[in-house]
Amino acid sequence: MPARRRASFRIGVSGLGERQEIAPGVFINTVYRGCTPGFMVTDEGLILIDTPLIPKQAKDWREQIELEAPGRPILYVFNTDHHRGHALGNQYFLPTTVIAHERAFKEMSGYTENFKERVYNSFKREPDIQEQLTNIEIVLPDVTFTDSARLQYGGREMKLIYVGGHTPATSIAWLPEEKIAFVGDILWVDQHPYMAQADSLEWIDALRRIRSLGAEMLVPGHGPVCGPEDTEKVEEYIQYKRRRVLDYYRAGKTKNEAKSGLVGEMLELFPVPLERKAKIESQIKSGINRVYREIQREEEMASAQLGNGAFAPPAPATVLVREQSADPALMPGTATLPAPTIGQSEQNGGREVEQEAEL
Ligand SMILES: [Zn+2]
Repeated sequence: MPARRRASFRIGVSGLGERQEIAPGVFINTVYRGCTPGFMVTDEGLILIDTPLIPKQAKDWREQIELEAPGRPILYVFNTDHHRGHALGNQYFLPTTVIAHERAFKEMSGYTENFKERVYNSFKREPDIQEQLTNIEIVLPDVTFTDSARLQYGGREMKLIYVGGHTPATSIAWLPEEKIAFVGDILWVDQHPYMAQADSLEWIDALRRIRSLGAEMLVPGHGPVCGPEDTEKVEEYIQYKRRRVLDYYRAGKTKNEAKSGLVGEMLELFPVPLERKAKIESQIKSGINRVYREIQREEEMASAQLGNGAFAPPAPATVLVREQSADPALMPGTATLPAPTIGQSEQNGGREVEQEAEL
């Protein structure tokens, strides 16, 4: 019998949760695993945001939607990104029109049999879930957009806005009337953000854009409903990771040295349930890997601009973003930050950490 996790909100949960109405006709479910799906009821039909990955939960969500708005068509399913936790449940909401960023279409077009097998295998420790995942059908977006799209039905409006950052496909749903933003995986509340496909500068920019929307409520992809101020912690986390990776890079450390040297201190920044420690560690390393490459590009570009000056000062790679607060109290989940020293490097076999599920 696999161990049932009882951690807070949807981490590791495979139960069914009641829908919550967060504004008139706007519902979410924070119990499902992989994302917080939502829907908006209009007189003409429903618009859904993300779909649960686990079939039992996806079917439960559909039942709840039909209970809430019997007989109304599902006009659209909007996927905030192409990750399995947001888009793999699309098959349970047909007939509908799936809409997502054009890059999500491209990524999902690459979901072959091999991908389905990996999803299946990733649940080997949870056979009750694994046995549900034998008939995965990838439902690609029917409609894509590049910058933004506006869905206007039954007198209600939902704006889809590309923000990037978390992935090259990440987009948010903005309900201007209700002042609610479904911000997908741009925002993780008290959890380590999944950064294996991230562009860290773009992510910081996305967080700022979200703060400037004038939203009163944010629905994160992972974590409880919160306010715009909760974006600050993620920004600080990303800034911190950038700064530390830069320290390593400038000290001549390799990517693997940065990964093994930094994973411990990064792990301290948000609470991690013991049973998920290995998984989170691996995800943090993937993120460091990604940020290292980004820093490397920035540094190379900056030194190319300086020409061949042998004694040029180090390029200010973090000048593109707001200076990180030096106050450790502002950092999430920890009272004191580790001293910014370069630790002893450890060998981890040089293995690139593969992109993994952000569950
Ligand atoms: Zn994601």
